[in-house]
Amino acid sequence: MTATPDVDVLIVGSGPAGATYARTIGDAVPGARILMAEVGPRLPGRRGEHTHNLPRAERRAAELLTQGPDAGIERATALAGIAEGADPSMEFRQVVLPGLFFVDPRPVLADGEVGLPAASMASGVGGMGVHWAGGCPRPRQSERVPCIATGELDAALDHAEALLGVTAFGSDQGVAGALRKRMAEAFEGPGLPPVGFMPIAARWDGAELRFSGTGAILGDLEETAPGFELRAETLARRVVVEDGVATGAELEDRRTGEVSVVRARHVVVCADGLRTPQVLFASGVRPPALGRYLNDHLQMVSFVRLDDAFVGGEAAGIEGLGYVLIPFSDDRPIQGGVMSIANSPYGFGAGGRIDDRLGVVSWYGAKDLQRSDAVEFSETETDHYGMPRMSIRYSHTARDLETIEAMRGLSHRSAELVGTLAEEPALAAGGASLHYQGTVRMGATDDGRSVCDPDLKVWGVRNLYVGGNGVIPTATASNPTLTTVALAWRAATRIAAELGGDPRP
Ligand SMILES: Cc1cc2nc3c(=O)[nH]c(=O)nc-3n(C[C@H](O)[C@H](O)[C@H](O)COP(=O)(O)OP(=O)(O)OC[C@H]3O[C@@H](n4cnc5c(N)ncnc54)[C@H](O)[C@@H]3O)c2cc1C
Repeated sequence: MTATPDVDVLIVGSGPAGATYARTIGDAVPGARILMAEVGPRLPGRRGEHTHNLPRAERRAAELLTQGPDAGIERATALAGIAEGADPSMEFRQVVLPGLFFVDPRPVLADGEVGLPAASMASGVGGMGVHWAGGCPRPRQSERVPCIATGELDAALDHAEALLGVTAFGSDQGVAGALRKRMAEAFEGPGLPPVGFMPIAARWDGAELRFSGTGAILGDLEETAPGFELRAETLARRVVVEDGVATGAELEDRRTGEVSVVRARHVVVCADGLRTPQVLFASGVRPPALGRYLNDHLQMVSFVRLDDAFVGGEAAGIEGLGYVLIPFSDDRPIQGGVMSIANSPYGFGAGGRIDDRLGVVSWYGAKDLQRSDAVEFSETETDHYGMPRMSIRYSHTARDLETIEAMRGLSHRSAELVGTLAEEPALAAGGASLHYQGTVRMGATDDGRSVCDPDLKVWGVRNLYVGGNGVIPTATASNPTLTTVALAWRAATRIAAELGGDPRP
């Protein structure tokens, strides 16, 4: 490095992963100079505020802003659309959700490929962490990262729950309680975990439910760490690597087109599961596993007309709201969810406009990992932002086809236990789960099957770190963001220690 760095840490991407790095380093080293570059714009409301907490008009405005190349294009909102009678399969199967844009809805598929036609992203301050549903189950058994000791991973998950403001919703009262008991009778057994409720990143503020995410993670960082700056509409075109050391990044101001190099002591790329490998590729950092082992949850979501026993939740009040969780286990590597939408935190958050006979059964299957499932980048073609164009290679193995049939059976069984299926269960289009994992996966050793070490430092490049769902190396069915935040927190404590902050607690 030739000159004094401009900042101590440059973070690319302002979603939950980038926010966790910023907050952790800022808390440990309040004098640190931390620059966060975010390609998308600032949104209405407080920085990083979950869009569900905004008044309706502001929420719509925020969603329109984060749609990248589709910014400004109006779409139906998910829950409001369902309540008003829109075709729900449109929302959960094929159509991009409000606030997001497709990677490539009409991929060119090679023989045997299924692609990820529903893969989508958000570009805006807060990333997807201002739109997400906040489901935060803990990873279990083989879902857990094997190269981190049990106690250490548990402590990181505890910390992530605190950062995200996770609440254990649900009690055995009312509709949610009745649904849980019915599911427990059917789906608990030897080797299978107890059926409970989905922990959700949301909290009660009096009688109001506030969803949390990126804003909650960042907290009051601008006040407590005055050297923190979030620069919106700023594209990280590439990380500058000199003699095996990351020394900064080339940033483009999207409003003026001006390009500048910011020098940094540490560079962290948290640009989501598909764009983090894109930034590394553009930087010439191309370990053999980059973009490979891509995996997205197999997803089957079906709507149900609930029986009388599961309708009318007034008696239990807000304490009775819940989303029943049938956890993943190695004996059944599929995670289930059952809810009466009106009696769930989501229905409550939508303002009580939901038909109380409307139920959802959802099943998420773990993908059979293959090296050939990958996001690849073009040397010559570019995307909307001028970054290397992505294409996705993705296929189902024989084991995936078995998992899909098991999910179909579970969808029928769970629906019949609580009501009548409104439609035949069908696999959602690939990419619909929005959980793109494996593309910058961690590993215990640099053996060509991973991109970063257990502290998320990229193999072979000093001072370069990654974060986000792409670092998760295992086949999971549980929603990944809790794990992502836990892993980013661990990595950030390492950087903080190098900057002279407290070592990892
Ligand atoms: C509707 C919805 C529901 C969801 N529900 C759940 C759930 O219940 N549970 C769960 O675990 N997960 C859920 N998710 C997924 C969750 O939001 C993501 O796992 C999480 O946001 C990932 O965090 P991240 O920081 O890695 O990436 P993101 O939140 O995607 O943030 C990445 C940021 O990087 C920016 N960026 C990309 N490239 C560049 C570049 N070159 N330069 C500068 N900036 C760049 C992007 O604009 C983006 O803002 C949901 C998502 C959505 C949209």
